[in-house]
Amino acid sequence: MLFPLQQVDTNLQLIEEIPNAFFNNIVDADVFGYELFPAWFQEYYGNRQDGLYQKANNLFQIIKNSGRELEIVNGYWESLQINQHCLSVDTLLFYCEDISIELFTAAKKYFHHLYKTLDYDWFTDYSNTDIIKYIIEFKKSNRVFLCPICGNETITSNRFEARAALDHWFCKAKYPFSSVSWDNLFPLGEGCNRPPIKGENEIVWSENERVNRQIFFYPFNWLGNMQIEFECIEEPSIDNPTSGSWRFNFIGIDETHQILINKWDAFFRVNDRWINETLDVFIETWTQTFAEYLVLEINIEEFELKYNEKLLSFRNSKNKFNIYPNHRVEWFFLNFLINEATPELYNGYKTMVKKHIENN
Ligand SMILES: [Zn+2]
Repeated sequence: MLFPLQQVDTNLQLIEEIPNAFFNNIVDADVFGYELFPAWFQEYYGNRQDGLYQKANNLFQIIKNSGRELEIVNGYWESLQINQHCLSVDTLLFYCEDISIELFTAAKKYFHHLYKTLDYDWFTDYSNTDIIKYIIEFKKSNRVFLCPICGNETITSNRFEARAALDHWFCKAKYPFSSVSWDNLFPLGEGCNRPPIKGENEIVWSENERVNRQIFFYPFNWLGNMQIEFECIEEPSIDNPTSGSWRFNFIGIDETHQILINKWDAFFRVNDRWINETLDVFIETWTQTFAEYLVLEINIEEFELKYNEKLLSFRNSKNKFNIYPNHRVEWFFLNFLINEATPELYNGYKTMVKKHIENN
């Protein structure tokens, strides 16, 4: 929505070959064995018959005994069409639990293990890369160093994080077959991914009970730049920074774009989070920050002369929208103050900034 994004090539995508081999070969296989895995698997995984091997075996037996083998195999391939499922309300979605709870449980165990495999040494030895390298590359090649969804938080990519920031568009708890599809994996910020924001909420159903399908945006489909307007519904009072009322308006280029923007905003609560998590905090602290900025730039005698000019350059310093969290929101507020605020608010803040300087 906010940035045009392109997937980057990575050997991690080789993970897909494991379930692809499984579903390509299952119909012809009478018994379970290494034929259900890619040719390279045994060399790197070893001859262990536990873990992934055992979970694949379990899933194999359940599919073979289901009497609905072909339906399940087709369901797997359909589950990889993430882009199509987002774009159209007419695609078929496959749910393992519609076959049986046993299939759903076995699929979850196998695919969740596969997802964790992205972090396992035997797989990173084979792929010769890891999630952290992938995320760094993703940021560099897209020139977006923030959460691609809200544009206002970082995506973690350091070795001290307990979990990688590579998350699912279709959540893996409800869509196990899509768990390691590369089209379903995105670097996401913690704030967007956690419940109750994304969590396990449905994105292509307008409610979690799956009654009405809906279109939903897909991060690699760029529909154009949205226009962002910052609206002051009520100015805050100087001594009560959170008493103001604000709204960001997100404006699309056409009707479809607008529908997808509205859903993105409603689902990820972008407007609310920009205001509650960033704007309110900034309004509370910005006069102090600006005072500290000013004393580096001017002498106190020049305060009256240089205030407006320095406020403008302070706003302009907040222009790294793709790099630093909060910059966009802070820019909009300062821009409002410079161009639209009442003289009372503008001068009220000015007096406050001056007091900060004098008190330090
Ligand atoms: Zn985010």
